[in-house]
Amino acid sequence: MDRLAADGIDVVRVTYPDLIGTDRARDVLVEELPRAVEHGLAFCRAVYHTTPQGDVVPVDGGLDAGLPDVVVRPDLDTLVALPWEPGVAGCLAEVVDPATGSPAPESPRDLLRTVLDSCHAHGLRPVVGPELEYYLCSPDPAGGWQRYARDPGVVYTAGLRADPDNHLLRTLRPVRGLDIGVLSGNHEFDGGQFEINLTHSEALSAADCSFRFKAAVKELARREGRLATFMAKPFNDAGGSGFHLHLSCDDAEGRNAFDDPAGAYGLSGTARHTVAGVLAHAPALAALLNPTVNSYKRFGPDTLAPWLIDWGLDNRSAMVRIPPERGSGARLELRLGDASANPYLAIAATAAAALLGVLAGEEPPAPLEGYGYDTTKSARLPATLPEALDALEADTALAGLLGKGFTTSFLTYKRNEVERFQRHVTDWEFTEYAYHL
Ligand code: MG
Ligand code: MG
Repeated sequence: MDRLAADGIDVVRVTYPDLIGTDRARDVLVEELPRAVEHGLAFCRAVYHTTPQGDVVPVDGGLDAGLPDVVVRPDLDTLVALPWEPGVAGCLAEVVDPATGSPAPESPRDLLRTVLDSCHAHGLRPVVGPELEYYLCSPDPAGGWQRYARDPGVVYTAGLRADPDNHLLRTLRPVRGLDIGVLSGNHEFDGGQFEINLTHSEALSAADCSFRFKAAVKELARREGRLATFMAKPFNDAGGSGFHLHLSCDDAEGRNAFDDPAGAYGLSGTARHTVAGVLAHAPALAALLNPTVNSYKRFGPDTLAPWLIDWGLDNRSAMVRIPPERGSGARLELRLGDASANPYLAIAATAAAALLGVLAGEEPPAPLEGYGYDTTKSARLPATLPEALDALEADTALAGLLGKGFTTSFLTYKRNEVERFQRHVTDWEFTEYAYHL
């Protein structure tokens, strides 16, 4: 309290990730903070299951139980002043079921912690470096949103030629103050698309940083009347936004356990088994790393997003790329995820697949040679969200590590989303059919 007073903080924004990774928060006056820490803050549990359209989705313990409370407990270790909002500090929070006092089954942060405990019990300490891509949109005179800039051929173009309002610098500097390991940013392949890289860190911290980063970028954009979106494939005429995860594991002494100059490809057994595990569980992983009906429109040949379940040595057309560094930089880059994924679930699922791969001890097939996307050589990723959800349900090993309470809630929520989408008449259907039929 003394520190907050000294820093001029009079409000604390207590934020937690819901099931789909949206930031949910309450602004708490600083004099109320001790009570919030002791007793927690009550939120309606239905918030987890309320869609942007306002539908309340029935999930175990939510609607069926009469929309009871969950209790949200601030985690003061994560307190940081919000650089763009003087007087306000933000912190993350744990979500607890008041009936049991234990973490609520759909609390993504706790789910990740549980999966990491299993990894640690087997001597694996996952380390993750997140890369997040997103589009910045400006208001469209017609009332919607359009890409903020549309110039083609702008990847890695710095400055005003590709970014006329200096969006990148005006984002990079304030998010640095959140202390989430922001390293650098660049313009991506399509007009209005950016990427910001976060430093690698222990997996829970990497998820916290990714979650806070997304909320901060969205908030900063809205302060300027713009929309930053992390949806997977917002535009028909531009590529999707990835959430690439650079993954390695530390051993008990904190050394990179993926490096082995004497191993095949300069990689240890742990690294190769991790690759095999990620490939083996890829269809189920897609449910968590590509969690929307829109996600599957990002995949495709010639997109730099994956399409097939494959891996390669420094090959960006593969789902898993092994960057060229070895030694302390030995790692894989999982290019499967898109930016819409809940970072906690994406990282938990990836760590679970790595653990299953290490426990199975299998070698991956030969790496992809040359440009990928050859369906005669590798299996395809799920083509739709329903396929991925079925794959998650069928993958009892992966679903088992994520836990039944979580998997049931997630599948119920997502299958409801699929049903709502399938009932909706889209613009494409009107254009395709209305004039000709
Ligand atoms: Mg990129
Ligand atoms: Mg990348």
